[in-house]
Amino acid sequence: MSKFEFPELPYAYDALEPYIDAQTMELHYSKHHKGYYTKFVNAIEGTGLENKSLIEIFENISSESTAVRNNGGGFFNHTLFWNVMGPNGGGAPSGELAEAINNTFGSFDEFKEKFTAAATGRFGSGWAWLVVKDGKLEICSTPNQDNPLMDVADCSGEPIFGLDVWEHAYYLKYQNRRPDYIDAFWNVVNWDAVAKNFKDAK
Ligand code: MN
Repeated sequence: MSKFEFPELPYAYDALEPYIDAQTMELHYSKHHKGYYTKFVNAIEGTGLENKSLIEIFENISSESTAVRNNGGGFFNHTLFWNVMGPNGGGAPSGELAEAINNTFGSFDEFKEKFTAAATGRFGSGWAWLVVKDGKLEICSTPNQDNPLMDVADCSGEPIFGLDVWEHAYYLKYQNRRPDYIDAFWNVVNWDAVAKNFKDAK
């Protein structure tokens, strides 16, 4: 029995309709995310990594196998992703997070534009991120299932918000239209959850 647990999806498969359809959610959670989790647990079995935290593993991911990197990333990234979405989402952040976004990017709209550009511009499969680095917000993106906690990533920091731009996240409903999926995504963002992540990261 692994100490790493596969998390519950915090809402029903159809909770993000019509922006993210129930079939995509079901496959994404029960097949893709579960697959990364299971393969990660198998990949670390007997390596000693069982005793480390995900953060510790990511900090030294360059010395681990591709299976640990890809599946550990996939396990962690999707858990964060489910968390920053929810029914009755959308709108704009408030409080300290809103202030930090305004101070860093000029306005919420400018933040959205920059984040959208990072998500749209990621070639192939990957993620767009909002991270806290040295107490400050930064936007970046990573390929495959990498994330900014990994020592191999182009950008570093603690991810507080992320968007999956793998085709499996949108192809059933949006086909090749990644920009339409990203537009829709803003309607399901749980800004309270992102604000909490921001507070914890600072
Ligand atoms: Mn995914």
